[in-house]
Amino acid sequence: YAQLFTFCRFAMYFSVIFVRIIRLKIKKRMETITSLYDFFTECGQVTTDSRNCPEGSMFIALKGGNFNGNAFAEQALQKGCRYAVVDEPEYAQKDDPRILLVEDCLKALQELANYYRRQLGTRIIGITGTNGKTTTKELIATVLGRKYNVLYTQGNLNNHIGVPLTLLRLKPEHEIAVVEMGASHPGEIHMLTHIVEPDYGIITNVGKAHLEGFGSFEGVIRTKGELYDYLRSRKNSSVFIQNENPYLNQIAEGLNCIRYGQTEGLYVSGHVLKCSPFLAFAWIGEKGLHEVQTHLIGTYNLDNVLAAAAIGRFFGVEEEEISLALSSYIPQNNRSQLEETPNNHLIVDAYNANPTSMMAALENFRHVEAAHKMVILGDMKELGSSSKEEHAKIVDFLDTCNFEKVILVGPEFGCIQTSYEKYPDVDTLIDHLKSDCPIGFYILVKGSNSMKLSRLPEFL
Ligand code: ATP
Ligand code: MG
Repeated sequence: YAQLFTFCRFAMYFSVIFVRIIRLKIKKRMETITSLYDFFTECGQVTTDSRNCPEGSMFIALKGGNFNGNAFAEQALQKGCRYAVVDEPEYAQKDDPRILLVEDCLKALQELANYYRRQLGTRIIGITGTNGKTTTKELIATVLGRKYNVLYTQGNLNNHIGVPLTLLRLKPEHEIAVVEMGASHPGEIHMLTHIVEPDYGIITNVGKAHLEGFGSFEGVIRTKGELYDYLRSRKNSSVFIQNENPYLNQIAEGLNCIRYGQTEGLYVSGHVLKCSPFLAFAWIGEKGLHEVQTHLIGTYNLDNVLAAAAIGRFFGVEEEEISLALSSYIPQNNRSQLEETPNNHLIVDAYNANPTSMMAALENFRHVEAAHKMVILGDMKELGSSSKEEHAKIVDFLDTCNFEKVILVGPEFGCIQTSYEKYPDVDTLIDHLKSDCPIGFYILVKGSNSMKLSRLPEFL
């Protein structure tokens, strides 16, 4: 009996293990991109956030520094997702046909987006550049929206996750898509263009940003140029290029270039009429001169509006319609926004700062007509070993501007020898403003997002 008992016990153990292996084998079937595409077409939309699960959508379990989306797959299904895509077998063992297993969820998201984009064949304009991507993207979409059904990147969703999610929002009725692509390391634009496969491209500009990641300014140019490299390999592609930008011209060889800028006789040329502080400009296409008053702050927006005009003209939007679209566009992106407080007029540009956009903002601000002008600048982040030099250049430039008051915030500016008022962080500045708030000034507030200067308006 003892032997029989032992035998039965072992037999039971083995059968449990055997069943487990079989179940594992069954569930381990990896989805291919075409099968995933079939599931996606049933759903019509994708979510990667288990807190936001539209009924019938497909949940894709991404991983971040602090979370593992796989652990939320069940929850996403309970909340209404039709399928959940996971990449860890232990979350796919249950005998649930709604759970789909792939090798790597991020890769699956990107490949699915690319596959879907190919099936639809929508014309896509890819946009990258150091500054002005979001603004230009929205201007382009506004202009093209006068004639076409346009899909464009929401907000700033321009990275390896945001770009595929944008593509997966495409519907057959979209005629054109404008997709923003951002980068802070070499190779990123190459990777994104191979997901997007744009038919047209625009690099708004190349400037000094994310130097830590790119290694050098040449690194920035090379990375942005990956968009041109891709388009060079495509038939019938075109790029829209700012004519006076020497760096872009250097790398645009062999491409069909549609030119815009300030030189006369271009496909679209234009110039600033006034900027106090909203930009008014004139542009010439095929049908003579148009004068447009915009809601955009800063002369640097001239390039952005001319780019949108050139793209509008290229796609056959009437010139009057282009002007109407550009004058009606009101920026919603929290960049260069004019705010009136009871005490002061503020230009708040506290989301993003790098040497190029800082110089552009200062250059613009020095031409704003006002009796009392003040600037509050926060550190520019991610500049690596060039940081000290770039902050010193900004201080040198400030010396030539004659602003009535200058306040510098952050440790990077803190290292620069200067007599301007300095604060180590925004909290210390806020303490100071509570007892000594300026009154009657036009104030430019600009710095990297992490400097949190967006908290200042309340105290100004
Ligand atoms: P991000 O890298 O954060 O996505 P972005 O390239 O999308 O930025 P925008 O959000 O359009 O750029 O603008 C950010 C800031 O860059 C603006 O507030 C302004 O200070 C500056 N900027 C915008 N357009 C230009 C331009 N053509 N040249 C230089 N600076 C610009
Ligand atoms: Mg952007």
